[in-house]
Amino acid sequence: MKYVILGNGIAGVCAAEMIRQLDPEGRITMVADETFRPYSRPMISMVLAGQVTSDQLPIRSKSFYENVRIAPVLGNRVSGIDVDQKSVMIDNGTSLPFDRLLIATGADPRPIKAEGLDLKNIFFMRTAAHIRNMLAVIPQTQKALVLGGGLVGFKAAYGLLQRGLDVTMLITSGYPLSMQVDNTAGEMILDELRDYGLKVRVGISVEAFDGNGSVSGAHLSDGSLTSCDLVVVGKGVLPALSFVPRDKIDIDLGILVNEQMETSSVGIFAAGDVAELVDISRKTRWVNAIWPEAVNQGRIAGTNMAGRRMSYPGSLSRNVLRILNLDVMTIGQVNPPDTSEYDVISTGGPGRGTYRKLVFRKNILTGAVLINDIEQGGIFMGLIQNEIPLNVPKEVLLQPSFNFKQLMV
Ligand SMILES: Cc1cc2nc3c(=O)[nH]c(=O)nc-3n(C[C@H](O)[C@H](O)[C@H](O)COP(=O)(O)OP(=O)(O)OC[C@H]3O[C@@H](n4cnc5c(N)ncnc54)[C@H](O)[C@@H]3O)c2cc1C
Repeated sequence: MKYVILGNGIAGVCAAEMIRQLDPEGRITMVADETFRPYSRPMISMVLAGQVTSDQLPIRSKSFYENVRIAPVLGNRVSGIDVDQKSVMIDNGTSLPFDRLLIATGADPRPIKAEGLDLKNIFFMRTAAHIRNMLAVIPQTQKALVLGGGLVGFKAAYGLLQRGLDVTMLITSGYPLSMQVDNTAGEMILDELRDYGLKVRVGISVEAFDGNGSVSGAHLSDGSLTSCDLVVVGKGVLPALSFVPRDKIDIDLGILVNEQMETSSVGIFAAGDVAELVDISRKTRWVNAIWPEAVNQGRIAGTNMAGRRMSYPGSLSRNVLRILNLDVMTIGQVNPPDTSEYDVISTGGPGRGTYRKLVFRKNILTGAVLINDIEQGGIFMGLIQNEIPLNVPKEVLLQPSFNFKQLMV
């Protein structure tokens, strides 16, 4: 059996390991444009902040490819897939035949529309190489602009502050982490960031950059001009699927997969940030571009590719973050549609130090936002993931003493 895996991120790595466990003889080839050994992508922001060195990023040993008996084709981009002929085209002019294919190419930073984007010192933050390039110029810079208040924008801003830069974060929406939290939690996070010395401007974006070779300023949507000598664009990500033939493989935002992580084309699978599948809490298809999902989806895809049928009930968004002095945990659907089907209860909020919001569809918990007091987050996650109907009043879940035993009546 010939397996080809596109991408050496965590989804591709987990799939390859599962395949090797179940099929000791199959030939596995892994194609990726990054040459660095498989590494922790979330941790690149810690390299920027000076908390770890890039030597600490790898998540597998130097002999990973040898141990799992993978033929690596690194430093090469995939340019196309011939679905009928079952082969993958590589930009070095070669092609690779496959019996089973996994697309695990992750995501690319979402581009922005602004003039002057080709000026030096404007960076994305997705790869170890992006961080290396940023660190090379930081000693010559003083004033940074971070575009975007999501996970990447927040981590970039924190890292640059640690490097001693004067940092301003520009957020188009009204509060940071708007994809992860609701407006109350967002307000608490905003206060925390500002107390720490980060300048945050909300409801604003960049229209054009100024500079002579390198960036020196940005024209903002309110008509003002602000000076800066380094910019990080962190406006979210888009699945990396430009090489996928849309007439042969169904795509929405991501590549559509079923419960076995198989695409609409038999024998071709997708997993991780590039894949779109049913979201357990939202009950609709969603791209949940997070690390634990890439791990699970890669394993399920690898298992099915090797011929052992295994289903995945769906993906679930979740994040645990330490934001300065705040522990933040979010799970599932935190901003439900405004319909009678949903019930929301909450306690705490700005000025109170803690906040807990729970979202229910009928008597099933579908989402939670917790700020500080996150100890019961694991129970909430179990309830959401397994869609367990509640047999106690909803308010019981907000009590500080709430524990699993109370659900066993
Ligand atoms: C700064 C940062 C912080 C993050 N923090 C968190 C966090 O706190 N918690 C969390 O859960 N998640 C976090 N994430 C997201 C997490 O890193 C991703 O969800 C995860 O890495 C996805 O894994 P993947 O294997 O699907 O894709 P990737 O890790 O993106 O791997 C895909 C690989 O495919 C390669 N590739 C792409 N296109 C091609 C092509 N055409 N040809 C050849 N190779 C190609 C890429 O170069 C890459 O090596 C963070 C991400 C970033 C960037």
